[in-house]
Amino acid sequence: MTDFKELKQFGSEAVNPEDSDKLITETGVSFRDRVSNIDKKGNRIWIYPKKPKGDYTKWRSVVAVFLLIFMFVLPFIKVGGRPFMILDIFERKFIIFGIVFWPQDFYIFALAFLALIVFVVLFTAVYGRIWCGWACPQTIFMEMVFRKIEYWIEGDYKQQMALSRSGWNANKIFKRGLKKTIFILLSFILSNLFLSYIIGIDELQKYMTEGPAEHFTSFAFVILFAGAFYFIFSWFREQACTFICPYGRLQSVLLDKNSIVVAYDFKRGEPRMKFKKNMPEDAGDCVDCGACVRVCPTGIDIRNGTQLECINCTACIDACDEVMLKVNKPKNLIRYASELQITESTKFKFTPRIMAYSVVLLLLSGLVAYLMFNRSDIEATILKVKGTMYQNTETGVANVYTATIINKTFEPMDFSLKLMDIPGTIQIIGKDHLHVPAEGLTDATFILELPRKFVTGTRNNIQIGVYSDDKLIQTVNTGFTGPAPGMK
Ligand code: SF4
Ligand code: SF4
Repeated sequence: MTDFKELKQFGSEAVNPEDSDKLITETGVSFRDRVSNIDKKGNRIWIYPKKPKGDYTKWRSVVAVFLLIFMFVLPFIKVGGRPFMILDIFERKFIIFGIVFWPQDFYIFALAFLALIVFVVLFTAVYGRIWCGWACPQTIFMEMVFRKIEYWIEGDYKQQMALSRSGWNANKIFKRGLKKTIFILLSFILSNLFLSYIIGIDELQKYMTEGPAEHFTSFAFVILFAGAFYFIFSWFREQACTFICPYGRLQSVLLDKNSIVVAYDFKRGEPRMKFKKNMPEDAGDCVDCGACVRVCPTGIDIRNGTQLECINCTACIDACDEVMLKVNKPKNLIRYASELQITESTKFKFTPRIMAYSVVLLLLSGLVAYLMFNRSDIEATILKVKGTMYQNTETGVANVYTATIINKTFEPMDFSLKLMDIPGTIQIIGKDHLHVPAEGLTDATFILELPRKFVTGTRNNIQIGVYSDDKLIQTVNTGFTGPAPGMK
């Protein structure tokens, strides 16, 4: 966070003791006691950000279009007739990049999730909230879809404010009606897209053709989420980032003085001064035009330092660059920079904290990759039936087992069970072999009989091979109970 003491000497408005919005501590360090979009009485301040334009906005739009296409196309992609991506939380079945994950694979998920958290922490420590500005779905939909529609229908911030103040005339009814209709339609599409990630695009198409009465629960889900999306993008807006998102709240513990954030170069900018023909020599580069504040979708003044509400959307960089060009000053008064880069003109440092995070991240990623690539498509579990004893037969000793075989592939498979390195017989009850459907599992009970001379004690370790097309797929170790030596 920027040291407000330093700003104080430049007369930053953030430390104006007269300003009742700020609390001043004994040390003279000041801070706000409420977020930017709430007034002193606790009422919401509706933010009308000016339409941003500039190089960063252009590149962010390109990235957003790419991500939106990716997001909308992904549910339609199939590999070998199967979805490329399904996140079925209800059936606990996940297909990620064409690979099926079962509940049995959740340990990989847990580790991958842990790696993701470390990645987020590391990434934030180094690059601040770059994710929020460039890739977060909330920012992309809010700033690149819904906000752009709003600019298109209602005009830039001044027209929007005027429309808001005006009475309900034909113009306002038409513009608001059109905007809300498009927002509702978009929210409905988004909700369907969301559902397609859970149940798959084929199921969704089936539900649509068969109608809501046939699939009432799914229809209710779509309506509920469409309502939630409409509420967020039409009314709740930046509050999702400032009140709800835990990532934004965590940034104060994740960022340090080396983190790259959207920052105002107060060394260069202060003392700020309104632009006039003959500027005094000691004037900073900031001409106090307020352009950076006007474009901010969360309603903050980046000149007061890094703040909770800043989603690193870069709109203020573009706005200030435009002003700098007009007043013949170098660009980048607001730019991506760390606090140390600004205060001490230092270069980026690879701190011990970043080093430690990187090592943990490397180890976790390596482990996840190893587990992913060595994950078996077939998983067999063989257990002795609980509470059963051995049985003496004419030729030997028998135990009863249950076998569960999971087939994670997209093809049905047949399996047989064979004893490894020991003579004996396996008789599956009620069937000759085990047929397991694609992406399915089969349970079976079987009797395993060993010749008496191979049963050497009460507990014998044996290995059972699981074969498919005479190919050994998996070897399962299990126990075999027999009579104590000397007993029959
Ligand atoms: S301060 Fe700048 S980067 Fe941060 S949210 Fe506002 S406009 Fe975007
Ligand atoms: S846009 Fe640049 S010059 Fe204008 S107030 Fe913001 S920092 Fe100062």
